[in-house]
Amino acid sequence: MKIDILSLFPEMFSGFLNSSILGKAIENGIIQVALINIRDFSRDKHRRVDDYPYGGGAGMVMMPQPLYDAVSSIKKEHPAARVVLTSPRGKPLVQKKAQQLSQEEHMVIICGHYEGIDQRIVDSIVDEEISIGDYVLTGGELPAMVIVDAVTRLLPEVLGSPRSLEEESFKGGLLEYPQYTRPAEFMGMAVPEVLLSGNHKRIEEWRREKALEATRKFRPDLLES
Ligand code: SAM
Repeated sequence: MKIDILSLFPEMFSGFLNSSILGKAIENGIIQVALINIRDFSRDKHRRVDDYPYGGGAGMVMMPQPLYDAVSSIKKEHPAARVVLTSPRGKPLVQKKAQQLSQEEHMVIICGHYEGIDQRIVDSIVDEEISIGDYVLTGGELPAMVIVDAVTRLLPEVLGSPRSLEEESFKGGLLEYPQYTRPAEFMGMAVPEVLLSGNHKRIEEWRREKALEATRKFRPDLLES
């Protein structure tokens, strides 16, 4: 999968893209990530990318031209690339959305900044707006990282075992069961006996029951839907 990230602060991504599972996915050629500095597309002699909002109001708005040119330069080569804008008003990034995006061959993610971007960019070249939650961040870089992370781990051969994707939160509408590792006893707290029993059927039943219990407790809305 190819992912182009359009940002005014591409340096924010270096640690994220070079570490852990993401770093490995890039090293193994499962994803190719290109960081594109929107400022490089400014035609202004001072490389400006933002201006005052028409109608007044606080803050600055990202100008349409640099963004339009940046996306167009990608679309010229890859017309089918899906253009995603990070935006607090977008559709929530839920696991199902991450799964849909993981089917794309090529995704372009626009990171807004300041008060956001000129609406004409949304109207002309954005395919969908995605939010990572009902709060406002300073920029779209963290949301872009969240999207890339959630999507990448769903791609084949990214996780060590495909079972990790089968047995995790939101699969089948449930949260995950509690996990334990060694030691069998820690500060007087023992691992549930069933997990040490070696009886796979009992373990499976226990996990299903605990998954239901966790969902009922933390996210009853998942059970309703
Ligand atoms: N004025 C905008 C509003 O009230 O909706 C907020 C702009 S925010 C300060 C700057 C940029 O951060 C946005 O354009 C978007 O790219 C990104 N952003 C902030 N919060 C986000 C969220 N919850 N999900 C996705 N992107 C977000």
